[in-house]
Amino acid sequence: MKKSIACALVATLQVISPAVFAQQATPGPMQLQLRDVYRELVEINTTDSSGSCTDAARAMGERLRKAGLADTDVQVLVPPGAPKKGNLVARFRGTGAKKPLLLLAHIDVVEAKREDWKRDPFKLVEEDGHFYARGAADDKAMAAAFVANLMRFRSEKYRPDRDVVLALTCDEEIIPSPANGVEYLLKNHRALLDAELALNEGGGGQLDKSGKRVRMTIQAGEKVFQSYRLEVTNPGGHSAQPRKDNALYDLARGLARLGDFDFPAKLLPVTRASFARMADILGGPVGQDLKLVAGDPPDVEAIARLSRNPSYNAQLRTTCVATMADAGEATNALPQRARAVVNCRVLPGESVAEVTSTLVRVLDNERITVTPMGEAVLSPPAPLDERILGPVKAVSDAMWPGVPLVATMSAGATDSRFLNNAGIPTYGVSGMFNESESAGVHALNERLPVRSLYEGQEFLYRLVKTLAGGR
Ligand SMILES: [Zn+2]
Repeated sequence: MKKSIACALVATLQVISPAVFAQQATPGPMQLQLRDVYRELVEINTTDSSGSCTDAARAMGERLRKAGLADTDVQVLVPPGAPKKGNLVARFRGTGAKKPLLLLAHIDVVEAKREDWKRDPFKLVEEDGHFYARGAADDKAMAAAFVANLMRFRSEKYRPDRDVVLALTCDEEIIPSPANGVEYLLKNHRALLDAELALNEGGGGQLDKSGKRVRMTIQAGEKVFQSYRLEVTNPGGHSAQPRKDNALYDLARGLARLGDFDFPAKLLPVTRASFARMADILGGPVGQDLKLVAGDPPDVEAIARLSRNPSYNAQLRTTCVATMADAGEATNALPQRARAVVNCRVLPGESVAEVTSTLVRVLDNERITVTPMGEAVLSPPAPLDERILGPVKAVSDAMWPGVPLVATMSAGATDSRFLNNAGIPTYGVSGMFNESESAGVHALNERLPVRSLYEGQEFLYRLVKTLAGGR
């Protein structure tokens, strides 16, 4: 099946122009500047366990000050009691004719263990046309591109119609976190973030295995994140005299039932539209299935086939999966406590309370207590109107003619939910194309094609200028 997708893609997708390859072979001064910012940023460890967002925020702030932004316009804001969770807010001044444009990127990264990685995760390695590092894609590429572009604006003496505000924030990856940078800034420094609209992670572009562009994406909505703590307790006892009631077995059996369970499929309008679009682009048996699922009514067997692919499955339904477990106190004692974390990703519009009760029903054992971890933050998607789609499409068409722009729902969660809830419509768009299945985001050996970093820089440069106006 995979082979036929590739064949169909070769037939329908644009060929990368020789100019792009030339550009890749010899990066220009702007690209080298970005590469340097990017290297510095990924080489500052910003994991929760041993890193510091504050160090990264300070380093990026220093770059902007050196480039000529006023000291008072570059602030590192550290939540009280969380010295390593600092955030950077920088303001590139415009004429003030219009309300500001906000550029958001998170600078914290998911944990990365050196011994598990092929290369040092906190060293920028360029190999086989890719950058490798923790955060290479999520989300330090966008963060570095924003910083480098503000430096470039400054060197050009660009004067936009509105302020361009950059926020590089911490603890996006930790849900819930008392030190989430966007929440903290909205609560304590609301005026600094105030904007007519914002750009954030969540969109990008998809490459096929041969590096051809399949589609450019803009995020329209995202699933809601809700984790649960599962716990079974038991009086325990001597392991030389086992009993049938056992906290670990209770929990394990419940989790096994959850593993076999699928939430019902539900086709949101954005998913139906993107499936219909991808059906034409992909063709072949997968394209046929996408067409059948986008039909009215959706084809049940085609849903079952597409659901075997984790990426389509995540678009089609709410998911809940066990992500952590610990149990037992001693090698020779019956466990008194068994605990697990189940992470759910709820389709927008579905009730989180209903997911909780479904979870309890599927676990099917009253000894397993189910407690929500934090309260889910709901977020209606920002309206995909011409104000954003027009400029995104114009810049995308100019850079990658013939590559379709597809609005997608993100199966992940981003900080966009906080901004949308605060009345700042936020769009996931980066112009950075990546290989969806092997990019290592949140996993091992995270990577981004070298060409994608530089193209994303150019895309964001043009998009910000289009949205911010001026000259
Ligand atoms: Zn991210």
